[in-house]
Amino acid sequence: MVKIFKFGGASVKDADGVRNACKIIQNQGQENNLVVVVSAMGKTTNALEILFEKAWQAEDYQKEFNDLKYYHETITSGLFGIEDVDSKDALARYFTRLEFQLIHSKGIDFDLGYDQIVTFGEYLSTLILSLYLRKKGVNVNLQNARFLIHTDMTWREGLVQMDETVSSIRKNLEPILKKGIVVTQGFIGGAKNGLLTTLGREGSDYTAALLGHCLNAESVTIWKDVPGVLNADPKWLQGAVLLPILSYQDAAELTYYGATVIHPKTIRPLAQKGIPLFVRSFLEPEKSGTRIGSENIHWSEPAFIVKKKQTLVSFTSKDYSFMDEKNITEVLHAFNRENLKIQMLQISATSISVVSEIKKETLDLITRHLASQYSILHNDNLTLITIKNYSQEAINFVKGANISILDQRSRNTCQLLIRSDT
Ligand code: ASP
Ligand code: MG
Repeated sequence: MVKIFKFGGASVKDADGVRNACKIIQNQGQENNLVVVVSAMGKTTNALEILFEKAWQAEDYQKEFNDLKYYHETITSGLFGIEDVDSKDALARYFTRLEFQLIHSKGIDFDLGYDQIVTFGEYLSTLILSLYLRKKGVNVNLQNARFLIHTDMTWREGLVQMDETVSSIRKNLEPILKKGIVVTQGFIGGAKNGLLTTLGREGSDYTAALLGHCLNAESVTIWKDVPGVLNADPKWLQGAVLLPILSYQDAAELTYYGATVIHPKTIRPLAQKGIPLFVRSFLEPEKSGTRIGSENIHWSEPAFIVKKKQTLVSFTSKDYSFMDEKNITEVLHAFNRENLKIQMLQISATSISVVSEIKKETLDLITRHLASQYSILHNDNLTLITIKNYSQEAINFVKGANISILDQRSRNTCQLLIRSDT
């Protein structure tokens, strides 16, 4: 049966990373019926975002362009030697194309242009990994994700067209999977008009899940720089512990509240087919990490999810009218129009408080729209801490010396909005 492996940017950030990924593919994978999904190397997508913005605004981007080229050249020469012509030529061709597209980026629709440029990161990483796998004697077939994942024309957050995607993946991949390993780009989709789309930042996990779903895979494995899904970000909580087994439901909730270990869209396509998702460490590939599946297992220790840069906006009706359905809907509509994700909501007699990650310009827009009916106050730079499986001890731990300005508890989950930068 088919297996899917996904390697993120951190796992292939240098020549040693690519060597390690190759070893994992050879030791933990299988000689055929394996699809390897790869993200852009290291921080390449961030670098491409900056390049595109500069090109779009007709600013000088030569330094950033040279840096990105040099970064990839260093990796390829580390893998193939400085004399290797094939890898050099292949890389040069991509950078010539990138330069050409950057020159033509000035003034085009920003989001459309963004997708045509940032996707270079995944094309470069898959090119390099597949050349290296071939060098190591692996039978590998490089496939272009634009012909596998079909989306609409929502640039930067392409909406996947499931029927077309299922039939393309089956038609294009099934016959060649028997002959060897397939390598393809994460994050990338193709629109009907022939242009590239992206699935949203960090979307490669979602690509892996879609491939797993369409191929009825045996499992999907995401190789990360952490041992698996932990009960908190180890940078935030010393002594964070591994959660060895998670239900789809719990994993989906963790991503909803902001756990960044897997992309929020990853769980659904897998849960629909009961395909297990493994989150494992590329640094300790022999360890089993976390298994996410349909088991109805609940762990007992509290899990902490920390989300910074939150804004609390409170709307109080000016004419003392109560917060009825009409007022609530009006306020929520304003957030929905701006595509904002609401993290927390509290309603009292004459006011409604909304917590969201919101830019100043967007808040100004909403304020302008609703200022005639509501007095609007806001607090910036707050941290929202969600505790799943909370206990009083866990709440006390979070609160510490911090004063929470909004608290909310349900049966399993407690959310605290705090002022200080915990
Ligand atoms: N390279 C893309 C990003 O950094 C996609 C991914 O990493 O999953 O957002
Ligand atoms: Mg990435």
